[in-house]
Amino acid sequence: MKIAVYPGSFDPITNGHLDVIRRARKIFDLVYIAVITNPEKDPLFSISKRIEMIQQALTLKKGLKVESFKGLLVDYARARGATSIIRGLRAVSDFDYEFQMAITNYKMCPQIETLFLMTDYKYSYLSSNFVKQIARLGGSISQFVPPNVEKKLKNLFAKRI
Ligand code: ADP
Repeated sequence: MKIAVYPGSFDPITNGHLDVIRRARKIFDLVYIAVITNPEKDPLFSISKRIEMIQQALTLKKGLKVESFKGLLVDYARARGATSIIRGLRAVSDFDYEFQMAITNYKMCPQIETLFLMTDYKYSYLSSNFVKQIARLGGSISQFVPPNVEKKLKNLFAKRI
């Protein structure tokens, strides 16, 4: 059984993330979608809300598990029996950070490979941050996120205005 983990903030999940998940699932029998708390980012949604939104957004759930994790990513991946860490690459701007993280993780645990997947070009500019900014300003986000996330963001910002 080939197992991978796809870690991220997913604050919230976008169609770009979903495209990476779909591609990863074609390669691996089981993909753990692992929601992390990045202390450098100030999340809009709690971990449990983010997990709930991911679960609702997955149309095909077979071979996919959603959970949160704390601590070192390589320790988590090892504990789950994963051989790979999946990361998505958008523009060149992602590369520096992703490159550093992949090498650091490899140094700590050479048994686990980081695998980069590209998204469809139509999601290559898409980030959770842009989606939040557009939603905050009242713009349409229907082409960027699954319907359940669109609804959540709309409700949230409607209350704040
Ligand atoms: P992180 O805080 O770990 O960067 P994100 O939720 O922003 O968490 O992203 C998780 C992973 O998904 C990262 O590897 C990121 O590059 C990738 N990703 C995010 N959006 C897209 C997209 N539109 N296309 C491809 N990869 C993406």
